Amino acid sequence: MTVVERLLVGGDWVEAADGRTSPTFDPSTGGQLATFSEAGAEDVEDAVAAARHALSAAAWRGLTPDARGRLLWRVAELLERDAEELAELETRDVGQPIAMSRGVNVVLAAQVFRYYAGWATKLEGKLSSVSVPGTLHYTRREPVGVCALITPWNFPLAIAAWKLAPALATGNTVVLKPAEQTPLSTLRLGALCLEAGIPAGVVNVLTGGPEVGQALVAHRDVDKVSFTGSTEVGQQIVAAAAADLKRVSLELGGKAPSIITRDADIDAAVVGNLQGALFNTGQACGAYTRFYVDRARVDEFTEKIAAASTTLPMGRPLDPATVLGPLISQEQLDRVAGYVRSGVDQGAQLVAGGDRASGPGLDDGYFFTPTVFTGVGDDMTIAREEIFGPVLSIFAYDDVDEVVARANDSDFGLASVIWTRDLVTAHTLAERICAGTVFVNQLPLIDPGAPWGGFGLSGWGREMGTFALDEFTETKGVWVNLAS
Ligand code: NAD
Repeated sequence: MTVVERLLVGGDWVEAADGRTSPTFDPSTGGQLATFSEAGAEDVEDAVAAARHALSAAAWRGLTPDARGRLLWRVAELLERDAEELAELETRDVGQPIAMSRGVNVVLAAQVFRYYAGWATKLEGKLSSVSVPGTLHYTRREPVGVCALITPWNFPLAIAAWKLAPALATGNTVVLKPAEQTPLSTLRLGALCLEAGIPAGVVNVLTGGPEVGQALVAHRDVDKVSFTGSTEVGQQIVAAAAADLKRVSLELGGKAPSIITRDADIDAAVVGNLQGALFNTGQACGAYTRFYVDRARVDEFTEKIAAASTTLPMGRPLDPATVLGPLISQEQLDRVAGYVRSGVDQGAQLVAGGDRASGPGLDDGYFFTPTVFTGVGDDMTIAREEIFGPVLSIFAYDDVDEVVARANDSDFGLASVIWTRDLVTAHTLAERICAGTVFVNQLPLIDPGAPWGGFGLSGWGREMGTFALDEFTETKGVWVNLAS
């Protein structure tokens, strides 16, 4: 008999009310990995009602900040206890190389819980300096309420954690909705929250497709939506949330520019850019994708990065030596191949890759070779749209003002990177680039203490750090008449 992964609603593991299920697949083989419950309208009602009830129940609302912080700390410990199992589960479901799921994804999830455990006891209002005699005014920070946390398939556990931990630290209750391609680690996270002692109904998990997300966004009893995913869906969420002016925060797509100046250490830039472009096989919102190289160094950079791109071990994601795994699905493989074809058709020169990968262990999975284009025009599709795959585009530039204008000529503004040995260049460009994050001589990094989010079509708001505390709280002002 097939085991069906259940929904977590009000502290109970339940099958979908209408009994519907869906499969999830191993992207490295195309084989079915598990079957999960597909939540329907009734399950959405139940989960939102459970979260609403838990919000004001004494078991949650009555907890001291210290007790709430301890619960989050316990989740971090449990994530670390089960780190190996979680990393394997994530690797099977996402196709993410085990070195990445073990060393980044699961580690980050635990770090984020520990970081926000500390914040539970440090949420403070302020005494306001109002000019009304005989009056006391102060502010309180209160939970927004019931939060729908909707996540994508590329780093399911880490992204769920970086929404869930600040939501809980600030006293909210949640319905978590993982992507339909990768539900498994989020279900385990729900189980660990229960094991940690988080009261029933505070964390609910609904698996299923876009219609589950849509129902949550449309639900009048959901106060906030925190979404990570594509820009297109982010725009749909904003439109749907307008009816009741739900609070919305959005972490959307990216098209990160990488500026390699004339004085850059080219060998370091090749290694860093290759990792920055290809981590998680290019399926990362912060991935470096547009490489603007000083014309004096562009041939050297192109030759070296194209050669290096062919040396990265590609294979089974559970092999610790694997750097490049499969793409998430046949659909994503077709999408990436379509972008590569458009690059060729629009006149860019392919200098490495460009095809589905084949060979022992690769033929059944969704593997694509790392692909490098040079001579890319600023208006080509591959220069403008988010590909979300292992495709690098190289451009030559002549002066600083020009490269700033071209790097900023994008609808997106999530991450960016500058490669230079000159401090003045580094800080001047850091100020002029329009992006939520600027890295200097760095891989794209995420840390609980550093804000993450974007300009323009890359989204609204910031996650991590104190910024996420603002996203998950409302400010209330209290006026007290001291004169009477
Ligand atoms: P997606 O937008 O297709 O789906 C994301 C989630 O939204 C899934 O859970 C999906 O079921 C749900 N969903 C789909 N339609 C919905 C709707 N109309 N209403 C509510 N929910 C809906 O994204 P994806 O393909 O899973 O992920 C890839 C995208 O995520 C890329 O664009 C990438 O850049 C972005 N991303 C951004 C960040 C960031 O921090 N900025 C991080 C990771 C991924």
